[in-house]
Amino acid sequence: MNQIVTLAHGSGGRMTFELVEKVFRRHFQSSLLEQGDDAAVFRMPEGRTAFTTDSFVITPIFFPGGNIGKLAVCGTVNDLAAMGAKPLYLSCGFILEEGLPLEELERITASMAETAREAGVMLVTGDTKVVQRGAVDKIFINTSGIGNIPDGIELSGSNAHPGDCVIVTGTIGEHGSCILQEREELNLHGPIHSDCAPLNGLTGSLLAQIPGVHVMRDPTRGGIATTLNEIAIQSHVGIQLHEEEIPVLPEVEGLCELLGMDPLYMANEGKMLILLPQQQTEAAMALLQQHPLGRTARVIGKVIEENPGKVYMKTRTGGKRIVDMLSGEQLPRIC
Ligand code: MG
Repeated sequence: MNQIVTLAHGSGGRMTFELVEKVFRRHFQSSLLEQGDDAAVFRMPEGRTAFTTDSFVITPIFFPGGNIGKLAVCGTVNDLAAMGAKPLYLSCGFILEEGLPLEELERITASMAETAREAGVMLVTGDTKVVQRGAVDKIFINTSGIGNIPDGIELSGSNAHPGDCVIVTGTIGEHGSCILQEREELNLHGPIHSDCAPLNGLTGSLLAQIPGVHVMRDPTRGGIATTLNEIAIQSHVGIQLHEEEIPVLPEVEGLCELLGMDPLYMANEGKMLILLPQQQTEAAMALLQQHPLGRTARVIGKVIEENPGKVYMKTRTGGKRIVDMLSGEQLPRIC
């Protein structure tokens, strides 16, 4: 096989067949993929089905803590997890730029397979296209995912109730900071690692043991500020945050200060916001903090009746300020 992706790899002929066999099939082994037909065919378990899709165009394609492939699996798995679904099956579509080193494609593919195993999902169908140099930047990936929502789980951004506590499952802003630091080629105190991780294990055990969770949403682009604003608007409630409770790594805080950014708006790829009744909060926190992906979870605020559609923050100095949605694009192509 050639050392780079060529247009012939996307021709649909022998080279495509070889690429699929030697790279994708080899890493994504599953009984459904082995069917080799035009579509994967399976039966869904009882309950409702969640279905979501996302495209990944991040640059750089490799970064501390992950790569575009790992991100493409985590992003879709986490959107299913946020709805309380058990992720089952993923599709993946690759758009490759002519000239992409095959070794890079192979590393990306291996990492997708590893992350899918970790999340317990199967990659069951896919597609590959190759476009001429310059028509895309190295590699774009789309993943779609299907999951099963067990009966009794009703999560939605419109379910927040006054009195609910707001939990974030860990320190914020690492993915956005990681990409920013890579792009700016800053090396302050070593690299900041992306928090990119599949969260369905964490959310699945929470939902299995803690009844009455109202909302879960992963604060990706726009950070926790934007996601909490969305929830406040959808649920017609106010949200009050406590600045001193919001967990931020010192290196993220340092980078944000240097560049005039705010960690509240920085993207996360391995964190969940969880809104639930106050009575359940202590038990939920104990459970989250036992999990490797929830060790730094904190209660960061509460849902209030006043000022529906708005997010406020009590600052460290005792002041109060409005936390708005992100306006405009802070950092393009971070996922
Ligand atoms: Mg989401």
